[in-house]
Amino acid sequence: MKASLWHVLGAGSLGSLWATRLARAGLPVRLILRNEARLKAYNAKGGLTLSEQGQRQSLDIPAQTLDDPQPIARLLVACKAYDAERAVTSIASRLVPGAEVLLLQNGLGSQQAVAALLPQARCIFVSSTEGAFRDEDFSVVFAGQGTNWMGDAQQRPAPAWLYDLVLAGIPHQWTADILDRLWRKLALNCAINPLTVLHGCRNGELQAHADEVTALCDELVTVLERCGQPQAAVGLHEEVNRVIEATAANYSSMYQDVVQRRRTEISYLLGYLCIAAARHGCQAPLLNRLREQLIEHLKAKGLPSD
Ligand code: NAP
Repeated sequence: MKASLWHVLGAGSLGSLWATRLARAGLPVRLILRNEARLKAYNAKGGLTLSEQGQRQSLDIPAQTLDDPQPIARLLVACKAYDAERAVTSIASRLVPGAEVLLLQNGLGSQQAVAALLPQARCIFVSSTEGAFRDEDFSVVFAGQGTNWMGDAQQRPAPAWLYDLVLAGIPHQWTADILDRLWRKLALNCAINPLTVLHGCRNGELQAHADEVTALCDELVTVLERCGQPQAAVGLHEEVNRVIEATAANYSSMYQDVVQRRRTEISYLLGYLCIAAARHGCQAPLLNRLREQLIEHLKAKGLPSD
C-alpha cells in the first residue's frame, strides 16, 4: 500500500523534528515554507539536519511554498500559535475534502480558531512534551524526550496513520481527553513561566517565591473549575511543585523567548486564561495582575506584548 504524503508547515524546531523523523523512516514528506526566499535558503542548505544524541543526520526533504498547487490530505501545522490562523488560511484551498490537520501549537485559542476556519477538515489537537531547538537555520537539536498527546474535540476514534508515527519512532498517545491535557498544560505554564520572566530566574528559583506560587495555584484551581475544566485542576499545586523541582536548572520557554527577543505566545497562555475566566464571570485578580505586569515587562523591553 502506498504511504500517504505528510505536508509539514513550518521548518522550525518541532516541524523539523517531525519532518526528519518521518523522512528517516522512508515516509513521504513535503515541507511548506513561507515564501520563495525561504525556499531558496532551504535549497541552498541542501535539506534539514537533525542532531540527536550527538549524531547529526541530514535529510534532503523536498520543500515547496504555501502557494504550491499540490493538494494536501494530511497537514502538520508546526508554526507558533500566533501564526497558525494566517498560515492555515493561506493554504486552506489546497486541502482535499476530509483532510486531516494536526495542530502542534502550545496554549489554547489558536486550535479552535483554525478548526473554525476548516469545517471540512478533521482537526487533531496535539500537546507535545518533546523538546527541540534550532542551532542554525534548517538544523534542529532534539533536546528533550517526551510524548505527543493527540485527540480531537469530537472524540472520534484514533486514525490508522498513527502507525506512521510508530514507524518513525515518534512517541504518541491517543486520548479522548485532549482538551483536559491542553488546559492542564496551560495552567502549569501560567503558574510557572510568567513568574520566571518577571523574577528573571530559572524554574527552580521559584522555590524562593513559594507563597506567590501557592496563591496563583489556588486561583488557577478556581478558574479551571469555573471554566468547566475540573479535571485539569486536580492536584495542580502538587504538579506545579514537582515540575519546578524536576526542571530546577532549566529556563522556561517564555523566559528563553524574552531573552532571545522573540515574540512570546502570551495571548494563547495567560491571555487566553484571563479572557476565559472573565467569560465565566470568575474574578481572577492575581492572574490579571500577572498578565498586566508581563505585558508591561515586554513593552519595556521593546517586545511585542500580544
Ligand atoms: P519555531 O522554531 O519558531 O518554528 C516555527 C516555524 O514556523 C518557523 O520556521 C517559521 O518560519 C514557520 N512559519 C511561521 N509562519 C509560517 C507560514 N505562514 N508559512 C510557513 N511557515 C511559517 O517554533 P517551535 O519551537 O517549533 O514551536 C511551534 C509550536 O510548538 C509552538 O506553539 C510551541 O509553543 C510549541 N512547542 C514547542 C516545543 C519546542 O521544544 N520547540 C515544545 C512543545 C511545544 P521561519 O523560519 O521562516 O520564520
